[in-house]
Amino acid sequence: MDVLRSVDEIRRKVQIWKNEGYSVGFVPTMGYLHEGHKSLIEKAASENDKVIVSVFVNPKQFDNKTDLETYPSNIQGDKELVENAGGDVIFAPTTAEMYPNGFATLVDIEGLDKELCGATRTGHFRGVCTVVTKLFLIVAPDRAYFGEKDFQQLAIIKRFTKDLNIPVEIVGCPIVREENGLAMSSRNSKLSLEEKRKALIIIEALNVIKEMVYQGTVDAEELKKEAVRKISTIDIAKIDYFEIVDPDTLEKIDEVREKALAATAVFIGKTRLIDNMIIGE
Ligand code: AMP
Repeated sequence: MDVLRSVDEIRRKVQIWKNEGYSVGFVPTMGYLHEGHKSLIEKAASENDKVIVSVFVNPKQFDNKTDLETYPSNIQGDKELVENAGGDVIFAPTTAEMYPNGFATLVDIEGLDKELCGATRTGHFRGVCTVVTKLFLIVAPDRAYFGEKDFQQLAIIKRFTKDLNIPVEIVGCPIVREENGLAMSSRNSKLSLEEKRKALIIIEALNVIKEMVYQGTVDAEELKKEAVRKISTIDIAKIDYFEIVDPDTLEKIDEVREKALAATAVFIGKTRLIDNMIIGE
């Protein structure tokens, strides 16, 4: 499994493939790959002739220095996982390659970045939009694959690729969970066993309100209250946000009459975990 570090190298590779008439799928990641990433790579491999996986921990999307510095990495493990999932090459640029001296351009989006993760992580989505735009321009894929685990990120990426006429098809992929329901995340490796057990409260709360909707509760405030109450029973859980929103606009809704998205970010100890679930289908 080749790991290419420079923009020129990956461009040359893609050019050769395009000259051969191959379609190119792209899976952007921050590395420390797990089964959730694997599902994206496998889907990309099933729909494209060639698959590029990028591994880049993008400093511009971190609002917390410690979070950036302690982000896990394991390029050897990543190489094995990409190989097993049917990927063809890893693009793992250095920060200097992506943001050389004098770098001064940012891609910003209006509206969609204000709620949920955007409300508490200042500049996060500007960093995401900037890096993903750069990666799209470098890799020029036919299709790019993103997880619904980062639901807001997926909505934002769909929006700016459309707005900027970037010729790439954005494909959303379902959340992959541990057997016990915990959404897979590279950040789960930061949790102790005890914290992992306590983190299950997140999926339990989502399941409870999904069931409440099924049983007839429509009041979003009541649903949110119950979810918050449940998560708060765990001593080390600190809710960053818990919202019920329209899955298309991400705007808060008052009543769950049709498909709605319950989305949350919760600190378990020092580790911030996100999860979401469609309720009211
Ligand atoms: P990350 O490395 O966390 O930036 O994630 C890279 C991509 O993998 C993003 O599109 C994520 O939404 C996706 N992803 C991460 N965890 C999961 C998961 N448990 N299920 C599905 N997709 C995921």
